[in-house]
Amino acid sequence: MAQNEAEQLQKSRRKRVERLKKIIVTVVLATILIPTAVSIFLGIRLAITVNRLEAAKAEQAQMQDRLDELEAELDSLKESIALQTREDAKEDDTVLESENSGQDVMTQDGIKRVYLTFDDGPSANTAAILDLLAEYQVKATFFVVGDTSEEGKQLYQRIVSEGHSIGIHSYSHKYGEIYASEEAFFEDFYLLSDYLYDVTGVRPDICRLPGGSSNTVSHIDMSNVVNELNAQGISCYDWNISGGDADGHDLTAEEIAENVLTGVDRFQTSIVLLHDGKDKSVTVEALRMILEKLSTEEQLEIKPITEETPIILHIKH
Ligand SMILES: [Zn+2]
Repeated sequence: MAQNEAEQLQKSRRKRVERLKKIIVTVVLATILIPTAVSIFLGIRLAITVNRLEAAKAEQAQMQDRLDELEAELDSLKESIALQTREDAKEDDTVLESENSGQDVMTQDGIKRVYLTFDDGPSANTAAILDLLAEYQVKATFFVVGDTSEEGKQLYQRIVSEGHSIGIHSYSHKYGEIYASEEAFFEDFYLLSDYLYDVTGVRPDICRLPGGSSNTVSHIDMSNVVNELNAQGISCYDWNISGGDADGHDLTAEEIAENVLTGVDRFQTSIVLLHDGKDKSVTVEALRMILEKLSTEEQLEIKPITEETPIILHIKH
């Protein structure tokens, strides 16, 4: 019985040892396995995140490339807009209408005569020009372009009703179109002539060729044009004094006035080129200075161009 008991005791001890061993193995295994599993899990998560990051970086690089392309496109668009604007300004602002000539015509009575001319109107500055001329009781000449707005019509009428001369410049004032052929030139010319007759009741018999008769952009023979116009009873006038308000140098009012007054000093007959444009308020300022100075001069008259005005033309015809 005692032996049996001893055996029983040993058995249960072995069992305990066995259990203890299991516990130890389990603990050891858990200590090794759990961190390993966590490490693997974290490793995978890290790999996924790194992949995503790489993909996002690639996408960002792609977007940056596209952005650069778009920026380049925008720059080239801006460039071409600027170019177009310069081209338009060239057509509208008549950079060609600035060349001077030294021609003069002696007056019979020794009195200097000054003919102030304004090209390219009507514009937002026409009324101010007309007001100034009225203030100094002076008549001038307006070589106009086509303007079908209500304000434009009223300004044509005001020019005529206040006793100024109105002359043809060009309906479209687009050198490329009007100087493409004689046919195109005369079509534009009579479009404006008819229109002015409708609006003012006056059919102009004077003209100033866009860019002047000596312009270098025309594809047609300017002498032919002048002769043809003369045959139709129309006189063409260039200028011998340019105010320089359309030569692209953005002169100050003082400089424009100086250009004009110096020229008037030199000549007996002065045909003065100025511009009537919406961006030419500096010309209006200059006009006041010019009128202020000229109104103090004796033996000098300011007159509108009429058929009696001596011709000053840059080309022979
Ligand atoms: Zn012009």
